[in-house]
Amino acid sequence: MTAPLIDPFQRAISYLRVSVTDRCDFRCVYCMSENMQFLPKKELLSLEELDWISTVFVRLGVQKLRITGGEPLVRRDILKYFQGMSRHLDSGALRELTLTTNGSQLERFAADLVACGVKRVNISLDTLDEAKFAEITRWGRLPQVMRGIDAAQAAGLRVKINVVALKGFNEAELFDIVAWCADRDMDLTFIEVMPMGDLGNEDRLDQYWSLKDLRMRLGEQYQLTDLAERSGGPARYVRLEETGQKIGFITPLSHNFCESCNRVRLTCTGELYMCLGQEDMADLRAPMREHPGDDDVLEDAIRAAIRLKPKGHDFDYSRQKVDGQMTRHMSHTGG
Ligand code: SAM
Ligand code: SF4
Repeated sequence: MTAPLIDPFQRAISYLRVSVTDRCDFRCVYCMSENMQFLPKKELLSLEELDWISTVFVRLGVQKLRITGGEPLVRRDILKYFQGMSRHLDSGALRELTLTTNGSQLERFAADLVACGVKRVNISLDTLDEAKFAEITRWGRLPQVMRGIDAAQAAGLRVKINVVALKGFNEAELFDIVAWCADRDMDLTFIEVMPMGDLGNEDRLDQYWSLKDLRMRLGEQYQLTDLAERSGGPARYVRLEETGQKIGFITPLSHNFCESCNRVRLTCTGELYMCLGQEDMADLRAPMREHPGDDDVLEDAIRAAIRLKPKGHDFDYSRQKVDGQMTRHMSHTGG
């Protein structure tokens, strides 16, 4: 029997997020600058390398894989990777294969993803207004994403909508978004904006809309019941008694979820980040390329990395300055 991955704080690692590309067909203002320099192909893990490392993680006890990016569905031939991972669903080693996407390519991919065993998708959408959607994503077009959401639901995928809470941008749409998700039977999670990357002229504190405030506003219209449910990540949930909807809040800036953290993140270049809020990472691509196909070497490198998983992270807006600001973009670690 292979020993599971346990970090120095006795947390079992059962959840891996894999960023499969740094590229994207959108340029969301809080995530990327307009003129992004993307990595040359040789820097990226190949689809074979992605399959290999994911497979070793599954053997070491990872039960949930979330595929992200960049925009995962713009990576060429990405379906091959999903098809490969479906064998771990078939064997029972993997419990869930899922992805986070901007929805732009779902019209094309939804049915194929279902065929690979994907049952749920997270789709990011910050506004229901076409003009505002074009403004926040710069390159995105709302009707295309709406067609993607239709296709996902038609294919039988359970959809969760992720909304980044942005002050002065989608505040006024709060109730419309809640009602729209209820109407379409989609789950909904709000995400607090995080200090990621150097995006030039966007002022992070200007965009910051605390979920505490958002929640208070929700409470003016609905009766909220806190749910005990935890996912091992930063999400907390409430139920709206009037509609029965479950709504999630992701406040990654708070420290209060670190003790139950069960996840690590692999970038598209094979760096393993043990914590979203720390710069510490382990380069797994080097051992993979020096010892191609050698499971033992890769397993040792993964175990050594997990031994470095820190206790928690250091974001803090509370002193009106962005402490612990990360220099890398969300599209690099995959959110
Ligand atoms: N392209 C896909 C998408 O947009 O869903 C997957 C990658 S994206 C980096 C993953 C999630 O991170 C999205 O829900 C996005 O809204 C969120 N995100 C990006 N930058 C963020 C930031 N600075 N603060 C909070 N969430 C952010
Ligand atoms: Fe692309 Fe997602 Fe980042 Fe938007 S949030 S730019 S869709 S990676």
